[in-house]
Amino acid sequence: MTKAARGAAAQPLDPELIRKVNRALLAWYAATARPLKIRERTDPYSVLVSEVMAQQTQISRVDQLATAFLARFPTLESLAAAETADVLVAWKGLGYNRRALALQRAAAAAVAAGGLPPSVDALVELPGIGPYTARAVAAIAFGGREIPVDVNIARIVSRLVDADAPLSPREVQLRANEFGAELADGEAGSWAQAAMDLASLTCRAAAPKCDECPLRDSCPSAGRAFTKVPRSGEARTPFTKTARWLRGRLLDELREAGRAGVQVTGVRGEHNEAAVAATISKMVSEGLAESLGGDRYRLPHRGD
Ligand code: SF4
Repeated sequence: MTKAARGAAAQPLDPELIRKVNRALLAWYAATARPLKIRERTDPYSVLVSEVMAQQTQISRVDQLATAFLARFPTLESLAAAETADVLVAWKGLGYNRRALALQRAAAAAVAAGGLPPSVDALVELPGIGPYTARAVAAIAFGGREIPVDVNIARIVSRLVDADAPLSPREVQLRANEFGAELADGEAGSWAQAAMDLASLTCRAAAPKCDECPLRDSCPSAGRAFTKVPRSGEARTPFTKTARWLRGRLLDELREAGRAGVQVTGVRGEHNEAAVAATISKMVSEGLAESLGGDRYRLPHRGD
């Protein structure tokens, strides 16, 4: 396909390209999908839990930890009614702990509304549920056809579109939905999971392995060189010097302390007393910790 034939980004994609890509991607996924326990669970609640966990955590790790989380909180209702402290304890090992708070708030709102709704528009109204998670739940659990687009799927879609200029998030979503519109009921979830696997195994940001790609015969970007995006200064900061490390360390101390709480004073690693005080104070304001007075803190509980 020539650049002229591709035309402006607003032109619809060639239906034959869409059909070929969809069939090749789904066939590849059926033959090579990683055996993940979490992907066998397609009820809306389990999908919501696994998708929130997978936002910033590797899927293999999610697969290990989601099973235990779902055993501890087997239903939307049980998660909504749980002590927040217990939810944060069960979240151990996943990081980015504010996701646990958001997940519980979403569960409470969904229970109040009579259950998780099937549409993207209604799902995205739940607290803490963004467009990606809403589309993933709608596609995997309810057979929706809007493709959930994160940075990995955006990369694949942009390469399949072969746009002359970088696509805006809205354009990428519209392009992804062109692929979704051609799919049969229930296939969009598999398409998205296949694209996630393809992004990590083959269509990487730098040096994609086009020779091994199931889409190489259709992809207009096959064989093209892609330059590596330089890592930001923040990415080079040793982890133990980051605010994320300190927050994780303090949260682990609160998990260990239980209901009685623990005194949070002094330094932690390379973080001085002021940084520790500011961080625990911020965690209280975010709902990740509860002040017991003085320098004592614990995970959030409903009462004494
Ligand atoms: S052919 Fe290459 S650029 Fe195209 S989707 Fe496959 S890995 Fe990505």
